[in-house]
Parts: sequence; structure tokens; C-alpha cells
Amino acid sequence: MASSDEARGRPRTGLKEGGVKRAHPLHLTLFGPPGSGKGTQANYLVEHFGIPQVSTGDLFRGEIKTATELGQRVKGYLDRGDLVPDEITLDLVRRRLEQPDCAKGVLFDGFPRTVAQARELDRMLRQAGRRMDHVLFVRVPEETLVSRMAGRLTCPTCSRTYHPELAPPENDLVCDNDGTPLVQREDDRPETARRRIKVYMDQTLPVLEHYRGQGVVSDIDGVGTIEEVRDRILQAIENGGDPPHAPRGSEEGART
Ligand SMILES: [Zn+2]
Repeated sequence: MASSDEARGRPRTGLKEGGVKRAHPLHLTLFGPPGSGKGTQANYLVEHFGIPQVSTGDLFRGEIKTATELGQRVKGYLDRGDLVPDEITLDLVRRRLEQPDCAKGVLFDGFPRTVAQARELDRMLRQAGRRMDHVLFVRVPEETLVSRMAGRLTCPTCSRTYHPELAPPENDLVCDNDGTPLVQREDDRPETARRRIKVYMDQTLPVLEHYRGQGVVSDIDGVGTIEEVRDRILQAIENGGDPPHAPRGSEEGART
């Protein structure tokens, strides 16, 4: 625990200004169930802190594009609907972290997905003299998630999601990134949405528990406007995570 206490006491100045001069690189992971608005907040954080977003989905797609032997293997797993083995995923992440644009830090997205991946990432960061600084968990009650998802629109090209009220595209019904017409996914229907939320939570809670032990997790109330949630996230990054080993069993529903 000593190292975690020491880390928590380290200066956190310079976080308020965007683009930001920081004394240390910043490593963030953002967790939030489907419909939590995590993607929108991730886009903001990347811009605000001037750090790249590292998502395993992007890494897989990038590797497939290069048409390497590894890319072929990745494509095989994805085409079969299988999980890409940790060994490959972690190797891609390791190589990504060596890129110069990661020098200021990274926002991880959709990773780590398992405790085994989290442990390996800890080791990788430690070897580079770094660490996971903040893990942000955006919490939203299930009913709110389901009704948000019912209105959601997705870009079939880049998977970015929009919502007519909460996160509208700049131009009606086309993606800001690539102009593709947006669609409502089958996945976003209420029954499917509930199942996806459950799968997400079952998968994510053990990983959160892993990071709670390090005192780097902040629970973010995800109900409110994009700006309100964004401010809570920035505040949490500035203040650091909840104390290590926070009591268990409080994962469902909003925090009081
Ligand atoms: Zn798009």
C-alpha cells in the first residue's frame, strides 16, 4: 500500500488547463456500461489532456489492415466471434505504448477487460516507470441506460454513437467523422440492451475491484448533462481515486 499512498500524494497541479503541461504522464481508464456516455467523455478527455485513446478494437483493426501474419490471426478470431487471446492483445498494447504519442500518457478504452490483462498492464506500465493513475467508472441506473439506448444511433463505419438529445451529430443523421448515415442497432433494443449491460457489468466488476485495491478508482455519477458528467470526471482526476479497498457490495445502482 505504501507505493499507492505515495503515488496518491504526488502533485496534481496543472490539471485544470487543457492541452496541459504535466509533470507526469497520465494514464486513464474509463469504464462505463453501454449507454453511459463513456464514448463522448473519452473523446473529450483525449482532447483535453492531449493524450491518445488506445482501444483494443482500433489495435485489432490496424493490425488487420497491415496484412501481417498476426493480422491474419486476429482477423480469424474476430471473424469466428472469438475473443482475441490475451497474449496477442497485450503484445499489441505493448507495441502501441512504445509509440512517441503515448509519451504524455494514454486513455485506455475497452481495456483491460480481465484481471489477468490488468495485472499484465500494471507490469508493463511499471517497467516503463509508469502506472495506472485513474480508473473512472461512469455509473448510471439500468433503467436510464435502457431508455438512453433506445434512442441511440450508431455509425456503421466507425462505431461512434450519437443520441438525438444527449449527443447529437453536427449534421442530421450522419456521422461527424466520416459522413456515414447513422442507424439504430438491433443491439440497442431494450431486451438486448439489458443483456449487454449485465454482460458488461459481470465482466467489468472484477477489473474494477482489482484497481480499487490500488486506490485509483473514482465512481462517477453518470446522470446529468454531458458537461456535468465531464466536470465530475475532471474533478475526480484532480482529487485522485477513492481510498484503497473500499467496501465491496455497493456496485449496483447509484452511489449516495
Ligand atoms: Zn463514423
